[in-house]
Amino acid sequence: MSQFVDECGLNVRGGDGGAGCVSFRREAHVAKGGPDGGDGGDGGSVWLVADHNVASLIAFKDHPHRRADSGRHGQGKRRHGASGEDAIVRVPVGTTVKSQDGEPLADLAADGIRWLAAAGGQGGQGNTRFSTHQNRAPAFAEQGEAGEQRWLRLELKLLADVALIGFPNAGKSTLISRISAARPKIADYPFTTLEPNLGVVRTGDSTGDDFEMVVADIPGLIAGASDGRGLGHRFLRHTERARVMVVMVDLASVEEVSPSEQQRVLLGELGAYRPELLERPRVLVGSKADVGHLDPPPGALLVSAVTGAGLPELIRAMADAVREARAQESLGLRAKRSDDVVIHRPVPEGIRVERADDGAFVVVGRAAERTMALSDLDAPGAWDFARRRLERLGVDRALARAGIKSGDTARIGAFEFEYYDDDEYFSEEASP
Ligand code: GDP
Ligand code: MG
Repeated sequence: MSQFVDECGLNVRGGDGGAGCVSFRREAHVAKGGPDGGDGGDGGSVWLVADHNVASLIAFKDHPHRRADSGRHGQGKRRHGASGEDAIVRVPVGTTVKSQDGEPLADLAADGIRWLAAAGGQGGQGNTRFSTHQNRAPAFAEQGEAGEQRWLRLELKLLADVALIGFPNAGKSTLISRISAARPKIADYPFTTLEPNLGVVRTGDSTGDDFEMVVADIPGLIAGASDGRGLGHRFLRHTERARVMVVMVDLASVEEVSPSEQQRVLLGELGAYRPELLERPRVLVGSKADVGHLDPPPGALLVSAVTGAGLPELIRAMADAVREARAQESLGLRAKRSDDVVIHRPVPEGIRVERADDGAFVVVGRAAERTMALSDLDAPGAWDFARRRLERLGVDRALARAGIKSGDTARIGAFEFEYYDDDEYFSEEASP
């Protein structure tokens, strides 16, 4: 089956977490106040959201970067930094997401589905959190975690919202080129000279609420097409999923076929191919109004792709019909929406040990990496604190299972150290 495929790259980046603050209470009558550094705010995340008012990926072609805001740093007096705002990226329903290597990540199959594309970094904890009986005045805090960043590949099998039908030379291709913002590429279509012509029509209002619809010109429609005359069936197939039919009659037909007769034959072919196509919302258009001399059928919108007359009205009529049809569909789909999201890759959690090229044992895992993100590991008490936390996370066990021996190099995030035997390494007396 031939398909219209739209694709693009998208770079997503979560906001960075704000840094935790090192601060101590300052009061006139207190010689040395306790710690009061607040936490940094979390970075915002980037979400992809399937939205039935978006019909193509053209918005990403020139602007492939989407990032969320970073969290603010913590401050003294236990003031926490504000979280960064999430970035919501609207994509068409039916968009599939793959990693740069082609690994499938998600199918956004129904309106309203959200998928976390890049998590924001967690905010760092302020020094208030690190106060213990042994150390009541911790002089260290946590850095904010960097936001997740990656390239994604988006793909969309385009479905026409609007099928534009009319006899050859009625002016279909000219109209599409005139009203569309982009012409998506058409994959593996065998008849290049007769390929269906596809355009993305965008309308925006002042609120920035963009609306997109895909319009397909269905060529080769002639009397008898429904019986397979010409290439009728091949092209009529593209009408099947279209929500709205635009029937174009030529007001300047060189054969002098009356527009009413054109309308009758076109609807006859549609109905003979699939009777239900006649039940879909329909807009009747008389083309070439600038030179047309034939009587238009009642109710036809008169347009000229050459002068532009009538085009805003036509776009509005199509957009209204498409909006209405999409709204009906999502009512029907809402009940089963939750089944429709397919996430292919579970989020890896916990701790894993990998071998680097140089033989080092690399501890991978958010919690462990975060532990080493203390702002200043040389600050008194910071290393003891980190060491205990790593032990609780099971880092020593994971390293032992991976076969590490005393003297080997271990790495956690940007931090590197020489490993000693468990007891020795994690005992209170050991120092880095
Ligand atoms: P299609 O076969 O339906 O795709 O028709 P085309 O878009 O290829 O147009 C057929 C011919 O009609 C071309 O020569 C166009 O330049 C001409 N045409 C299309 N629209 C208009 C119009 O609004 N006014 C006039 N005067 N000519 C038009
Ligand atoms: Mg054409």
